[in-house]
Amino acid sequence: MTRKVLITGVTGQDGACLAQFLLEKGYEVHGMVRHSSSANLERIEGLRDRIELHQADLLDQLSIITIIQQIRPHEVYNFAAQSFVPTSWSQPLLTGEFTALGVTRMLEAIRLVDPSIRFYQASSSEMFGNVREEPQNEQTSFWPRSPYGVAKVYGHWITVNYRESYNIFACSGILFNHESPLRGKEFVSRKVTDAVARIKLGLQDKLVLGNIDALRDWGYAGDYIEAAWLMLQQDRPDDYVVATGIKHSVRDLVELAFGHAGLDWRDHVESDQSLFRPAEVNTLCGDASKARRVLGWAPRVSFAELIRMMVDADLERVRREKAVSAS
Ligand code: GDP
Repeated sequence: MTRKVLITGVTGQDGACLAQFLLEKGYEVHGMVRHSSSANLERIEGLRDRIELHQADLLDQLSIITIIQQIRPHEVYNFAAQSFVPTSWSQPLLTGEFTALGVTRMLEAIRLVDPSIRFYQASSSEMFGNVREEPQNEQTSFWPRSPYGVAKVYGHWITVNYRESYNIFACSGILFNHESPLRGKEFVSRKVTDAVARIKLGLQDKLVLGNIDALRDWGYAGDYIEAAWLMLQQDRPDDYVVATGIKHSVRDLVELAFGHAGLDWRDHVESDQSLFRPAEVNTLCGDASKARRVLGWAPRVSFAELIRMMVDADLERVRREKAVSAS
């Protein structure tokens, strides 16, 4: 029997990446999208004839119950969220509605319609925030540093709680930062690689960043969504850290990206206090040994390969856009 999957946040980086991965595995793929006056389907453009989209909203309980009843998926991946950390300070309540309570609404729909549906919650290394130990593993206590991080802690624990209360096969994947050419341009990796391409091709000269001393454990999104899928294929549900175990500074990222395009970052990058965050997560580094041991998972793409891949993709895209606008 064909396995059916419902992906929330299917128009985002992870949703689009997982949709592609599961189509290749033979799944019938359904995506949940919010009604919007300007649809943002760019990342799933090439998959449109192979995935079925359903309108529902994490803020609307009935809409979620309805589509789960219609689709009756075997697996649900909850990637939908207000996921940009700075926005969580300007819209803390909305962030709580989507990123925290939205998880309960998904779990309630599963509990009511069919508690045998397997559920994946996209938890985040931002939950570790002001880190209590290094590297961080599944036992490390949380100290979130943004309304986003706080909301993700709620999402994590409600997932654990529905597993313990109702025996739902619910897993929380604590994913460290993961990037790809599909990453939104507001995140630092893509902001940098997009700027490198535009500077290289003469469309821009400066790049203004915030705190370039921040340290992150960056991996490749394509590797990480595979870990999410593996979690739902096990005999029992559990929580896993997914990370590379290697940290780099934003400065390292910048140096590598500019260097790959033959540019010196010092000629172009400025740091502006207004882009610093009210409370910063200074350092993150994950210990994914449980994922390695139980899921047999390991990252394949290195940090340097990832950044080069993103710069190359942006160079190609900006070149194409430039040619179109010139013709
Ligand atoms: P996050 O870890 O989920 O917040 O992912 P981001 O890619 O948004 O940010 C990663 C780190 O880069 C954070 O510590 C930011 O403070 C730092 N950073 C420095 N400059 C910038 C910038 O211009 N944009 C963003 N998004 N982050 C920046």
